[in-house]
Amino acid sequence: MRIILVGPPGSGKGTQAKRLQQHEGVPQISTGDILRAAVKAQTPLGLEAKKYMDAGNLVPDDVVIGLVDQRLAEGKQKGEKGFILDGFPRTVPQAEALDAILDKLELSLDAVVELQVPADEVVRRLSGRRTCNNCGAMYHIEFNAPKKEGVCDSCGSDQLIQRDDDKEETVRNRLRVYAEQTAPLLEYYSRAGVLKSVDGTGGIDDIYQSILSAVEK
Ligand code: AMP
Repeated sequence: MRIILVGPPGSGKGTQAKRLQQHEGVPQISTGDILRAAVKAQTPLGLEAKKYMDAGNLVPDDVVIGLVDQRLAEGKQKGEKGFILDGFPRTVPQAEALDAILDKLELSLDAVVELQVPADEVVRRLSGRRTCNNCGAMYHIEFNAPKKEGVCDSCGSDQLIQRDDDKEETVRNRLRVYAEQTAPLLEYYSRAGVLKSVDGTGGIDDIYQSILSAVEK
């Protein structure tokens, strides 16, 4: 399976990509996760990326394209069962670069799945999101609260934090960036005949099934 998940921040791309990885054995490649790991490790790349991420802006194309180029080449070499790209591409130049990378690796895309979620729902989801600073487990203060307030169910840490870029003002900027820079990808992939749109509201299991049937169609 070789697919791209597209959708506004908070549309559930990460959740669904993790599920696909678990159930289908296809690796999730999240540029957001790769960049956050670089920020945490304080590498030169991470220090450069942090200022864009904290403001809710996109990291420059050449930086993320380089990361994905390297990751996909490694995957092919290791004989991985495809990929689920989560959060990449996010601009038309990134999509064009991805086409060139896939040509070079002699791979093709099965589908680009768009998760459709209205903007006010996205703001509600993201501003209530809390992440465990120790193990990465995710919660929501309204929909998926930890059993004991402020304490991670998985590892017991009391560091449940709000990601800097999940603060309401930044969320609104990320949505603006999505509309301006990422939404044009839908037209790009629709013209290529690979775009499938799925309703991203409702239960996680139902959305998962909709993605699987969209990819199989
Ligand atoms: P995410 O976890 O996918 O929402 O990504 C978090 C942040 O990482 C984004 O708001 C961007 O600042 C940065 N980022 C992740 N993927 C990309 C990408 N493909 N292009 C540019 N910036 C990205």
